[in-house]
Amino acid sequence: MITAREQMQAAQTFIDQWACLASTLVDDYECHMTCSEAESLAALFRAFGDTFTAEEVMRAHSEKDDEEDEPHEVHVTDSAETA
Ligand SMILES: [Zn+2]
Repeated sequence: MITAREQMQAAQTFIDQWACLASTLVDDYECHMTCSEAESLAALFRAFGDTFTAEEVMRAHSEKDDEEDEPHEVHVTDSAETA
């Protein structure tokens, strides 16, 4: 039986290993994510304290988002601003 602790460890390992790839999927691999896919991926990183990756996922998604009805709230921190 898989314990909650093992599930948390697996999630933490995923967060650690996928932080770089997740933030570059859209830009480097032209990966199209639906709004709910992008939001759930960002939420996972945010839940584990990686707000930078969460913001990068949503920024990249929002730039290529073709669903215009509800724009995403992208919370950009000072350190992530490029202007
Ligand atoms: Zn979207």
